[in-house]
Amino acid sequence: MKKSLLALVLLPFFATNVFSQLKFSDETKKYIEYSDSVIAFKNALLIDGTGNAAKSHQTVIIVNGKINWIGDDVNAIIPKVANTIDLNGKALMPGLVMLHEHMYISAPSMETRQYFVHQLPATFPRLYLAAGATTIRTAGNIEPYSDINLKKDIDAGKIPGPSIEATAPYMEGNQSPIQQMNRLDKPADAVSFVNYWADQGFTSFKGYMFIDKPTLRAAIEAAHKRKLKVTAHLCAVTYREAAEMGIDQLEHGFFASTDFVTDKKENQCPANADEVIANLNVESDSVKNLLQLLVDKKVIITSTLAVFEGFTTTQPAPTAELLNYFSPDSRDFYLKLFARIKSGKAPSDDDRAFVNNAKMEKLFYTMGGLLTVGTDPTGNGGTIAGFGNWRAIELLVESDGFTPLEAIKIATLNGAIALGFNKNIGTIETGKNADLLIIDGDPSKNISDIRKVQFVFKKGVGYNSRKLFESVKGKVGFN
Ligand SMILES: [Zn+2]
Repeated sequence: MKKSLLALVLLPFFATNVFSQLKFSDETKKYIEYSDSVIAFKNALLIDGTGNAAKSHQTVIIVNGKINWIGDDVNAIIPKVANTIDLNGKALMPGLVMLHEHMYISAPSMETRQYFVHQLPATFPRLYLAAGATTIRTAGNIEPYSDINLKKDIDAGKIPGPSIEATAPYMEGNQSPIQQMNRLDKPADAVSFVNYWADQGFTSFKGYMFIDKPTLRAAIEAAHKRKLKVTAHLCAVTYREAAEMGIDQLEHGFFASTDFVTDKKENQCPANADEVIANLNVESDSVKNLLQLLVDKKVIITSTLAVFEGFTTTQPAPTAELLNYFSPDSRDFYLKLFARIKSGKAPSDDDRAFVNNAKMEKLFYTMGGLLTVGTDPTGNGGTIAGFGNWRAIELLVESDGFTPLEAIKIATLNGAIALGFNKNIGTIETGKNADLLIIDGDPSKNISDIRKVQFVFKKGVGYNSRKLFESVKGKVGFN
């Protein structure tokens, strides 16, 4: 209390414009609506990200990009220098912290059956920020220099976008059919790979489907030596094996688990993993034992329901609004894929795997596991940055059965904890960065209200969501 009062007393002396410290490009400035050093939000419905119930009639004061004071409107002493924003009827919640946010799309080239992805460094950062993602982890990249320079350019204010926790290029194995990924041959390759990309500024790593046990183990040890974290989209290595070698996180809920494939060969990626998850008894002891091991070893799980919904016959039809954002070629590709999947017989293996995965994610959380959320915006199922972020969070409620407050916590605080950034981001608390969303609705009651984001504050600078969206309409895709 004393500290915040002191800060308020000293305000006139420190109240310099945020613009004076951060040089935004003319392009970035087009989307900035608020850049005052002192902003007071009053009359807000406060959703703080901790999972606590929303509170009405709250004031939040931010000073030089940090949250300085939070309390009831009636107790607020709003400094004269503040730009006061009345949030009557609106909610204030933390910026999203999402953990599987690539900068590429794969849709237009999948028809050739040769998996190939295209970097979207112009549209995706804007979509992420527009939807309310203030911090993202990329969880693997195809164009490392584009990703790392994009991060630097965003931090420097040249380009509008979220804060990026940059994951190094994928660590893939020898059997991989994907040409854009490095194929690590042996443990020594993994060690030099980790050290090289860590030297280039990447701060996390991701193993991919065909990496084998000795190579993944060497990568984890090399990353941990540098105090960096490793996640993976597994297949040849099981979740149990990776947990036992000390992996930090695993992607795609339990879709990528090959632990229950009975005739699985060591270091081989089985072809029938989806079918096995589809037919799994999720109440069995073998499932509970695996989940308990993951909880005990503090392995974090990233739920990526939006992209997997795109394989199901139960997926909703795309909205006209979403389709407006695709470029013509990627829209055409997506609609053909959608029609093909919808014409399939229900329930498919993918439908049943989707349901079983949702149950396992909920059980993992209930058992005390740290569940986070990501988008994996590869274009599958129309999953792109921004819209896909919202869908991934909605599905935590619709499919996993979380309450909206739990889903918000998973998409904010849990993401921050997983990245080790929770001292500075993830909740609305004094001392943390002013990464805040103004929502014209109440997502604590109706999770789909996260789609009604109006302004996105990143480190105290408020961006106009609508303007960011409009700037990339019709441009998301191949060209
Ligand atoms: Zn991915």
